[in-house]
Amino acid sequence: MEALPAHQIPSYIDSAHLGPWGVWLEQIDRVTPHLGKLARWVETLKRPKRILIVDVPIERDDGSIAHFEGYRVQHNTSRGPGKGGVRFHQDVSLSEVMALSAWMTVKNAAVNVPYGGAKGGIRVDPRTLSPGELQRMTRRYTSEINIIIGPNKDIPAPDVNTNEQIMAWMMDTYSMNQGSTTSGVVTGKPISLGGSLGRRDATGRGVYVVGCEAAARIGMDVSGARIAVQGFGNVGGVAARLFTEAGATVVAVQDHSGTVFKESGIDVPTLLAHVAEHGGVAGFAGAEIMADGSQFWSVDCDILIPAALEQQINEKNANSIRARIILEGANGPTTPAADDVLHQRNVLVVPDVVANAGGVTVSYFEWVQDFSSFFWTEEEINLRLTRIMKEAFAGVWLLAQERKVSLRTAAFIVGCTRVLQAREMRGLYP
Ligand code: GLU
Repeated sequence: MEALPAHQIPSYIDSAHLGPWGVWLEQIDRVTPHLGKLARWVETLKRPKRILIVDVPIERDDGSIAHFEGYRVQHNTSRGPGKGGVRFHQDVSLSEVMALSAWMTVKNAAVNVPYGGAKGGIRVDPRTLSPGELQRMTRRYTSEINIIIGPNKDIPAPDVNTNEQIMAWMMDTYSMNQGSTTSGVVTGKPISLGGSLGRRDATGRGVYVVGCEAAARIGMDVSGARIAVQGFGNVGGVAARLFTEAGATVVAVQDHSGTVFKESGIDVPTLLAHVAEHGGVAGFAGAEIMADGSQFWSVDCDILIPAALEQQINEKNANSIRARIILEGANGPTTPAADDVLHQRNVLVVPDVVANAGGVTVSYFEWVQDFSSFFWTEEEINLRLTRIMKEAFAGVWLLAQERKVSLRTAAFIVGCTRVLQAREMRGLYP
């Protein structure tokens, strides 16, 4: 990637190793010419509003003390409170959390939920912690970021390696500090604590809904489609299940533990049960094991769903991809260089900020339900989710046709326009 002018890179980011933040900057540079007069405000998007880095010390079960790096970044709050997940992963870094928070800004605007963008994380492999250590780390982290979160300020949610239990501990810790139970401070909670029906499956369901829309636009029959999925957690696993229920065939699955392949189709419920028991696809007896994981990218399939981490589809593998549609279940899975290759090769990339927006959409429903203490049926939630996803996709599709740009650029035009319009209307303080 070409070096960017120094003024665009704050000194707290290593300009020689921009990481995911570099991807974001390049995406913003690509959308800027399409923003008209609002381009005047675009530098706003290249600087997160607020960054909190915290030390998270815990006492290990063996009596030793361990310290972890914790982050919460509020990228933009022009349209409403910060909103976005919390990730526990050994590769979490400032650059990553900044980029993830920025993608939340565009995502929330693209599906028009009244939020800004935020994200948090702890640099830790949670598999190395006991349940007690995990709880102590989560609670200390929540207490440290307590000063900037809140139901009207910034609302965390699950992301990679965080779940309903973690959200319950976060809600409880915040509430203890506050002196009263505050369920709206996080979403993705257990149903018994003000969680929403349908939230657990929402991201995967949104990926599926948008995938069906994209397939219909290019005349692909989902019921006959061959699918490859990277990441078999709450996003990839649910999307795979819904696509197979619609008649599609999942031929390959890759996760942190390995890659499995079966030409005639993997039995998804059996693989889901295996992953629930063993923590990954490795050792699954119902398919061939692919020893060379890089071969996953050239599997013969119609729809490829990256649903794991960033920058997985890059210059190295973009040319070998055989799918006609890429559905970005993950955040930031495709680099700008790969975007160019795929665009040239006529591969339809449905960008993260639309494809995986189902999760935050139902988070919004959860937050609204918490405020009103009135809970909706699962049917109502899925109907509303489906409607929002279809409308967002249709708007982005139309704009992409009109402006002759990729779906990513179109989604960024929609999202950034909404954010910068709000920015301009509010004006600069003081
Ligand atoms: N972590 C999810 C995302 O990346 C959900 C965020 C939320 O529900 O706030 O979109």
